[in-house]
Amino acid sequence: MKTLIVGGGPVGLATALALTQAHAGGEITVLEASPREKQINSDRNIALSLASWRFLERIGVKSAGLIANHGTEIRAVEVTQQGAFGWLKLDAKELGESALGAAVPYPYLKSALDDAVVARGIHVLWNAEATRVSLEGARARVSLATGESLVADCVALADGSKASADSMMPEFKSFERSSGQVAVIARVRATKPTLNVAYERFTAGGALALIPRAADAGVAEWTLVWARDSVDAERLLALDDASFCETINDAFGGAMGALTVASKRTSYPLVWRFVEPRVHGAVVAVGNAAQALHPVAAQGLNLGLRDAEDLANALQNNNHRSEQESITSALSRFAQSRAIDRVATFGFSGVLAYGFDRGGWLLDAPRGLGLMALQMLPSAKRELLRRMAL
Ligand SMILES: Cc1cc2nc3c(=O)[nH]c(=O)nc-3n(C[C@H](O)[C@H](O)[C@H](O)COP(=O)(O)OP(=O)(O)OC[C@H]3O[C@@H](n4cnc5c(N)ncnc54)[C@H](O)[C@@H]3O)c2cc1C
Repeated sequence: MKTLIVGGGPVGLATALALTQAHAGGEITVLEASPREKQINSDRNIALSLASWRFLERIGVKSAGLIANHGTEIRAVEVTQQGAFGWLKLDAKELGESALGAAVPYPYLKSALDDAVVARGIHVLWNAEATRVSLEGARARVSLATGESLVADCVALADGSKASADSMMPEFKSFERSSGQVAVIARVRATKPTLNVAYERFTAGGALALIPRAADAGVAEWTLVWARDSVDAERLLALDDASFCETINDAFGGAMGALTVASKRTSYPLVWRFVEPRVHGAVVAVGNAAQALHPVAAQGLNLGLRDAEDLANALQNNNHRSEQESITSALSRFAQSRAIDRVATFGFSGVLAYGFDRGGWLLDAPRGLGLMALQMLPSAKRELLRRMAL
């Protein structure tokens, strides 16, 4: 069996590792459009759940060292709303765990995955931009920008969300909706830092998240991700540092003393995308090639890693069958098995992104009561914690 993975981002590489670990993909090649030596220049601080880190460790990524050297554990999450009552603290201790997850800057995570792929001897073709995928009987052909093409028994599209899957293969339909919001991102420091705690605060017009990141020069930092409508995002990006700090301190409150900015500000448009069907014959879409979420709930890569794990499981269970038809039926089973998690994660991210972005006491009061009720109901809280971390 031959498997081609289009896209060597975190999900493509994790899929290659998971398939290798499960002895499920046969001969695996990853096709990556960018050159080997390309510097990854992303300011994303990726928060992954405990379950995601354990999965990465299982497939050969040195998670513990990565977190110890470049990341930070998240031991608790505090949820509040600006200008209204209501508070919820989700603490790993209530689950009997030391952490709910950990955050690592994207470039370090990506290079740990690159190292694991090299260590496992997985073949990566760099500068290999795929332009089209088509079925050829029960197999699939991937055409490259160079004019060459490759045929495989199974093709996993893991090319992220820059191009939509239907441009690669018209049978895939991409449903996209702009949230009308832009994420304003900056690194911040605090005068009274509470280490290893992440914050979600619901402010009028959009959620504000503070995700802890590794200390730079010995000083603890957080990545601020604040969803704003595009006009307000422009305004925030144009402010001088002092005015920007004043605005974020007003919105965040004093839970960590005063916040100061430690980096330049960047922004990302917030888009929701859903590809359906996600399987056509021997071709399957995983990670951001299959779905893109609002980052406020920090779930996009967590969901993509679960795609990788479930795809490996589906193809592993298929191993004893030799017919190509069984690959396509394994992919269909994979799509069915992923449906609930996909919809639930969209729903969860949607509630966090929009369920809290409108003000007024008529809405603030029930939301505050909801947070307090969860805070006081240990079994409901434990269930939420279990779902977030495990
Ligand atoms: C601001 C922000 C913060 C986020 N924070 C979190 C978080 O805290 N936790 C979390 O779980 N998620 C988070 N996410 C989401 C997360 O970054 C994505 O879900 C994840 O990067 C998707 O990985 P991927 O491999 O599917 O796609 P990508 O990371 O986009 O990788 C796709 C790869 O495919 C390659 N490629 C593209 N086209 C082709 C082609 N035609 N041929 C060959 N190769 C190709 C690209 O070069 C790239 O290497 C965040 C996102 C944003 C924007």
